[in-house]
Amino acid sequence: DKKVVLITGCSSGIGLSLAVRLASDPDKTFKVYATMRNLSKKERLLESVKGLHRDTLDILQMDVTDRQSILDARDRVVEKRINILVCNAGVGLMGPLEVQSLNSMRHILEVNLLGTIQTIQAFLPQMKAQSQGRILVTGSTGGLHGLPFNEVYCASKFAIEGACESLAILLKHFNIHVSLIECGPVNTDFLVNLKKTELGDTSLQQVDTQTQRLYEKYLQHCRSVFQNAAQDTEDIVKVFLDAIQSPSPAFRYFTSTTGPPVTQLKATEPDDSYISAMSKIIFSTEEQ
Ligand code: NAD
Repeated sequence: DKKVVLITGCSSGIGLSLAVRLASDPDKTFKVYATMRNLSKKERLLESVKGLHRDTLDILQMDVTDRQSILDARDRVVEKRINILVCNAGVGLMGPLEVQSLNSMRHILEVNLLGTIQTIQAFLPQMKAQSQGRILVTGSTGGLHGLPFNEVYCASKFAIEGACESLAILLKHFNIHVSLIECGPVNTDFLVNLKKTELGDTSLQQVDTQTQRLYEKYLQHCRSVFQNAAQDTEDIVKVFLDAIQSPSPAFRYFTSTTGPPVTQLKATEPDDSYISAMSKIIFSTEEQ
């Protein structure tokens, strides 16, 4: 029997790569339901899988902020079961907190936090009933440590950590494994798709010059981090596969070893060591 996998956010990035890899598995181990908010964006996925995958791939519409679309997608799974649920859809929000509208903050929380939670909710009863399953969530190092100018994004990703940790404790009793795949920077459309305050935006002119200057520095830092240290989606997909293939998957997987040491500072040094270290990394020598 094939393992039935449902993935959210498959029109680009990590979700797309994972869907392609699983649907093209040489042993045809998986039946993949690649879901996306906007089906008109399915061409990229179809081009990437190349050839016919009638028995291993199906594409469904699913907007994680729309409960009915989640339920509709669930009902279109012909096997009537999901073995592996991958909650991957997510968006970013970057800029000084003062300029963020309530609507854009709400949207990030709705997609990243409530979107993930209500997707899990929809599949939980069936997974519990079959006493078997995997829930994989694309986490972020921004869910483990704070980043300036990403307050609401980090808040949404921190919240996911709490939700997943809580669920993992309970779902152990149902033979359902929850795993977070913690990613640092990854080469995807994420930076294009995120809502970002641009340096020329009039809203930015309204914040103090000190913040403007630090924001400019942050954007430089961000650019260089993505240029120098970003992983490719294939690297991330390998970690997903590790988690999928392991008989007893870990709760957290780190896709790269460059992230965790800073995070560890938080656990080992409860003073402000982490805050100072991150400030130094991003803003260099000033503003400690
Ligand atoms: P991406 O922008 O290419 O992919 C995100 C996908 O989510 C897109 O296909 C988008 O259409 C989809 N999406 C957005 N809103 C949706 C909604 N309401 N319903 C359904 N789908 C929706 O970027 P990515 O890097 O592949 O992002 C995937 C996940 O990885 C996200 O959760 C992101 O937070 C996380 N992540 C990314 C990075 C990075 O540097 N790229 C780092 C850490 C974590």
